[in-house]
Amino acid sequence: METMQAYIEEAEKALLHTYNRYQVVLDRGEGVYLYNIEGKKYLDFASGIGVFALGYHNTEYNDALKGQIDKLIHTSNYYYNVPAVEAAKKLKEVSGMDRVFFTNSGAEAVEGAIKAARKYAFLKDGQTGHEIIALHHSFHGRTMGALSVTGNPGYREAFEPGIGNVRFASMNDWDSVLACVNEKTCAILLETVQGEGGVFPADEAFLWRLRRLCDERDILLVLDEIQCGMGRTGFMFAWQKFGVKPDIMTVAKALGCGVPVGAFLMTEKVGQNSLKAGDHGTTYGGNPLACAAVCKVLDLFEKNHIIEHVRQVSAYLEQKLDELAGKYEGIQARRGSGLLQGLVFDRPVADIIDAALAGGLILINAGPNVIRFLPPLVIGCADVDEMLRILEPCLSAGA
Ligand SMILES: *Cc1c(COP(=O)(O)O)cnc(C)c1O
Repeated sequence: METMQAYIEEAEKALLHTYNRYQVVLDRGEGVYLYNIEGKKYLDFASGIGVFALGYHNTEYNDALKGQIDKLIHTSNYYYNVPAVEAAKKLKEVSGMDRVFFTNSGAEAVEGAIKAARKYAFLKDGQTGHEIIALHHSFHGRTMGALSVTGNPGYREAFEPGIGNVRFASMNDWDSVLACVNEKTCAILLETVQGEGGVFPADEAFLWRLRRLCDERDILLVLDEIQCGMGRTGFMFAWQKFGVKPDIMTVAKALGCGVPVGAFLMTEKVGQNSLKAGDHGTTYGGNPLACAAVCKVLDLFEKNHIIEHVRQVSAYLEQKLDELAGKYEGIQARRGSGLLQGLVFDRPVADIIDAALAGGLILINAGPNVIRFLPPLVIGCADVDEMLRILEPCLSAGA
């Protein structure tokens, strides 16, 4: 067997260098643990960026996929397939939304949401050039449309011009939104809890004001639930905490728990007045394998009471992170919701994350100064304790 270092060297010759990867070659997973190819065990508090919500090597999930592989993997959207119909029905039930379009990724779901919003506005006034309001520090993906609404100028700079007609306001800053609204505005797009950009939850009053503004002016409220959705905050979708229902919603990441699948969903009103046959498509999106995963994930969420579990364990995580923040001067704040938490430091956290990794704990950041906690939703309180046992001695790294 080749050593880990040999694989890493091969990887750096073959893969496009778009990531500064951690120096680990992962091999297999079991529950909340990952193992590298040399057998070293890691407690996983990143879950593949919020994807593997149900933990690794879940037999029921794996069996559902194996069964579907032996039946039918792909059909294209020229035909119906049973898993897609069932997955769409279940997604409607848990979201209260009415229409589903399956995609292959989060970015692709955001692209679809942007097209639906533009088409909705186009059908109203026959004009083009409608504007979207997005937020600073947002993250919506790396394709050109999703990038254009991502509020991180560093990600956008080399690729300008983007789709254009995008204005940026600030999270929880009502006046900054009002300053962007005009008769051309067709959508306001935000993550209900910002993930990559630093873990910033939208507050209830801000969301309600957006909802009312959108209702008054027939602007579409688009909530990106790709990271904060699927039970992560102790609600199936983060907006359900406040009852502020979007007109369009995007999901991905934990939707398939590892199989690449996303979706954008909309209300019947938007569904009837936006994308029509011929307006949008995808070859793979909603294929039977991906949708069998979605069906099983939603079944297991219900059967295993994942939402209730997240509420309990996240209260414990919050309490422990608050204690930690109280003990260490370098920690300025804890922010977050449910099992999407951030510890804000007074300095870059890269060295802390590296030290934790060496100690057998996988963490990720959210911007340079924030450690992001995004564990599988099935972690228990003992896993939180173990995480802290590994993390605490690493906190002085880089200081
Ligand atoms: C990850 C993410 C995306 C992009 O999803 P991909 O599957 O990587 O394209 C979009 N929005 C949010 C909020 C995300 O966290």
